[in-house]
Amino acid sequence: MSVDLRDWVRNVPDHPQPGIQFKDLTPIFAEPAAFRAAINWFTDQVAKIHPDVIAAIDARGFVFASPVADRLGIPLALVRKSGKLPPPVIKNQYSLEYDDLSVIEMRSDALTEGQRVVIVDDLLATGGTAVAAAELAEELGAHVVAQIFLVELAFLNGRERITSRDPDCEVVSDIVYD
Ligand code: AMP
Repeated sequence: MSVDLRDWVRNVPDHPQPGIQFKDLTPIFAEPAAFRAAINWFTDQVAKIHPDVIAAIDARGFVFASPVADRLGIPLALVRKSGKLPPPVIKNQYSLEYDDLSVIEMRSDALTEGQRVVIVDDLLATGGTAVAAAELAEELGAHVVAQIFLVELAFLNGRERITSRDPDCEVVSDIVYD
């Protein structure tokens, strides 16, 4: 079955707040051919970069990053919402497209000095989450060489937010909404 992944993204207007066009990816998870196509795409992108570690963002980032880490035999580090990881953790605060303030955390031993890290998430909106995750990785001494997303909401300029902070960080996405 040939899959155009864009056909499997469901737009939900005004969720979770009025004015937000929520991109629901559960139709991709529910259709094995679409899910495989998405994982194949992520695997190809990560393989080109040869990172030491994949850092996955809670929670839909986990869904995509886990099979990629398994297929490529690359360690997986978790970037989680506040209070989920056991100590010791490092924390970072950031704002979301539809949320005022959020906190993400990583285990202090999740990454080591000098590791090349790829960050994986389902969707790039304002880039707040991506930048906060990169800051955590860098606090642990790692280098974020790429950020990879299935979906990019280009009109929110998240790509620019990532690259203005780190021009060497590659930003890769598959389905772009202008
Ligand atoms: P941001 O930090 O603004 O780039 O937001 C990215 C994070 O929030 C990702 O983990 C997405 O899952 C989620 N997110 C933000 N905006 C949307 C949206 N319109 N549709 C679906 N998920 C979103």
